[in-house]
Amino acid sequence: AKRGWRERLSGSAFARGLSALFTRHPKLDDELLDELETTLIGADVGVETSSALVEDLRRRMHKREFADADALLAALRQALVARLAPVQQPLRPDGAKPFVVLVVGINGVGKTTTIGKLARRWRDEGREVLLAAGDTFRAAAVEQLKTWGERNGVPVIAQGQGADAASVIFDALQAARSRGADVLIADTAGRLHTQGGLMDELSKIARVLKKLDPDAPHEVLMVIDGTTGQNALSQVRQFRQLVGVTGLVVTKLDGTAKGGVVFALAREFGLPIRFVGLGEQATDLQPFDAEAYVDGLLP
Ligand code: GDP
Repeated sequence: AKRGWRERLSGSAFARGLSALFTRHPKLDDELLDELETTLIGADVGVETSSALVEDLRRRMHKREFADADALLAALRQALVARLAPVQQPLRPDGAKPFVVLVVGINGVGKTTTIGKLARRWRDEGREVLLAAGDTFRAAAVEQLKTWGERNGVPVIAQGQGADAASVIFDALQAARSRGADVLIADTAGRLHTQGGLMDELSKIARVLKKLDPDAPHEVLMVIDGTTGQNALSQVRQFRQLVGVTGLVVTKLDGTAKGGVVFALAREFGLPIRFVGLGEQATDLQPFDAEAYVDGLLP
């Protein structure tokens, strides 16, 4: 599985930029480091992180710590892994039954796909999973979840479009309890008419869940699209004002994502990155692994 990461991440601006840089400029000098900084910033790593990383490498290079480009790359690898290691905190849906996961994020980021992939993963691990079609704002979202559930034999609790999301999710938690399910994954709207409407809806969902289980939701998982760069950061900032996000999923890192946004997210929020999406197949949602990720980006 770890080998798949390299294959999926090699198309990113980060991986391509770095590989081109070290081929073109294998000599250890200040120009190499200037270009390295530009490459990292261009790959969405963020200005502060890129500058701090490069200045540390520059200081060490001037002290002749690196014999060659490989030694410099090894130091870069270590520094990058160190920045991601703190956010590598896997999500195991245990410790409560049912373990309630509320999935939030704006439309189009891969929320429904991620719910399907998570359901598959946890079911394949032997858990009984139930889904709640809580994005009642979009008829297509309810249909998409139901279709997925039918195809995969995972029950989906849904009401019609326009139904009260909190009521759907409350019913689903009751159903999950009476069936003895292990995990309930609840979809939520990605956008309502107003930001205030979404905030009211999410807080109402949290409130009604707590009537049945004071600790629910056990995880509020925010899904973000890795191809949207700085925009992904502002989405997290916005959602954190609406609801207490406890973990992130970064999708589409296999496509046109630049690759660096994960570093910017780790620096700015320090929120656990639970999973990353490396493709459209069910098995392409992988628990975040800092070393595999960095190794996938480096030449
Ligand atoms: P939602 O509106 O947030 O529910 O988004 P969807 O789940 O419908 O996903 C939107 C599109 O993104 C779909 O075409 C998915 O197949 C695609 N997608 C989701 N996750 C990934 C991923 O990790 N990699 C790639 N390449 N595509 C993804």
